[in-house]
Amino acid sequence: MPELPEVETTRRAISNFEGKVIKSSKVNNPNLRWKIDKNFEAIVRNFQIEEISRRAKYIIFKSDTYSMLLHLGMSGSLRILDRTSNQFKKHDHVEFFFEDKKIIYNDPRRFGSIHLAKDIKSHFLISKLGIEPLEKKFTGSHLFNICSKSKAPIKSLIMNQKNVVGVGNIYACESLFEAKINPFKESCCLSEGECASLVKCIKKILRNAIKVGGTTLKDFYSADGSAGYFKFKLKAYGREDEDCLVCNDRIMKTVQNQRATYYCSTCQV
Ligand SMILES: [Zn+2]
Repeated sequence: MPELPEVETTRRAISNFEGKVIKSSKVNNPNLRWKIDKNFEAIVRNFQIEEISRRAKYIIFKSDTYSMLLHLGMSGSLRILDRTSNQFKKHDHVEFFFEDKKIIYNDPRRFGSIHLAKDIKSHFLISKLGIEPLEKKFTGSHLFNICSKSKAPIKSLIMNQKNVVGVGNIYACESLFEAKINPFKESCCLSEGECASLVKCIKKILRNAIKVGGTTLKDFYSADGSAGYFKFKLKAYGREDEDCLVCNDRIMKTVQNQRATYYCSTCQV
């Protein structure tokens, strides 16, 4: 599943479309997680893109009237082709035509979505989202404040989008390992120092992943068609029964909140 670093990598790969105009679009198949609006093609005509930004795992194309909100879901991807290319892949849901290029949205499993909104901030997918992890405002004391009110395990708390966005399962496991914090620890038991360390590790790991172009367990192709899949060095995730790289004890795997949690019970207390 594309996580925040993959989405950010995708955004960067299409950032040179800022300032360009979507002349027209073609919806080949409107059936995504939410059906694409039937007026979509009419609204996305001569759509002048002022800015392409990211909020959580949404890519936002802003024009002076509408914003287009795009989510890659579990298996979505974008690719850039020449406008005249007739390459067509199964599950090419939407095509956006520019002067000489086109961007194609492909999504085999259809968990992605494309919405249009006049006021993006009040959109139901955006309005309740928590803070961005890479923002300066996301600090140890910010996290400590959230943690002090919650008995939820810390891993669940940092994966809850209402608290902080974009910390997916892989990155949650890796950040907690790096910060030496047990994923099952009650959030309200974390000290301010532990929160500061965890925030630092979350930022470091996400930045690192963005730097290598994002990581997922399945193939991921960044929007410009280059293979954006780099094997990121994971220290905990996916390493069940392997030696902990810090203490040589074994990495354990348990299911927590229906997600696989990998951790070292010696290092992470
Ligand atoms: Zn260890």
